[in-house]
Amino acid sequence: MARSSRVAPKAQCIGCGDDSRVYDQVDFVLHAHGCGKLPTGNNCRSKHEAAVAFFHRWASTPLARSKGTESECPPKLLSTWGCRKCGRENIPYEEVRRHNNECKVALDRQGPDWVTTFPDGSRYVYDYTDLHVTCPSYRSRKVATLVEEKMSDKRSKYVATGMVPHSEFVVVLVYSYGGLHDNTLKLIKQLAKINDVHATVLLKEFSVLLQRHNGAAVLNAHRASARRAERSLLPK
Ligand SMILES: [Zn+2]
Ligand SMILES: [Zn+2]
Repeated sequence: MARSSRVAPKAQCIGCGDDSRVYDQVDFVLHAHGCGKLPTGNNCRSKHEAAVAFFHRWASTPLARSKGTESECPPKLLSTWGCRKCGRENIPYEEVRRHNNECKVALDRQGPDWVTTFPDGSRYVYDYTDLHVTCPSYRSRKVATLVEEKMSDKRSKYVATGMVPHSEFVVVLVYSYGGLHDNTLKLIKQLAKINDVHATVLLKEFSVLLQRHNGAAVLNAHRASARRAERSLLPK
């Protein structure tokens, strides 16, 4: 009997378009984890938003605030917005609402992800980044080089342009399957401490969050791909 498979041997990413690369299933799944062009809702962008919200939320619990911790997400004064419709860039916070009313599109924000001031008065500007080392275009490269590149990209984007003072800027780097950079682990420990919980409480919650979003991105990519295949089979 012929072997049947419910999954096509090759797939193209709907997000990347009809002319994009044809992947085998393993590469397709690996691509899906990091593709920012997949339909919104379940892609690496929603994972990024959820991760940022996680850190901001633990810095904003009633207990953390009662001890004097303050967190702002996104930091209004360190952000600018751009408009896809009219092409205007560097729109300051005070003009966002007016511009929204004029162009009637959601504006894209530029700037670090959040700012936290801890009870001892130290203030950090954070930018979250997800490093997808197994993605097909990164796979042949050294992880340490990729990390270094990500870090210096962020620094030149925000610090070198004077957007944030150097000493306070922290890149919160996470490997897409849950590995944590030292900066990230240090932050999780700080947040656990001000919340009087063990760091494993935060680590567990964070790893579930990452894997849930990874799974959702892959499902999203498969569904979109299957829908297109189905449409192409229907009589015209
Ligand atoms: Zn894609
Ligand atoms: Zn506009």
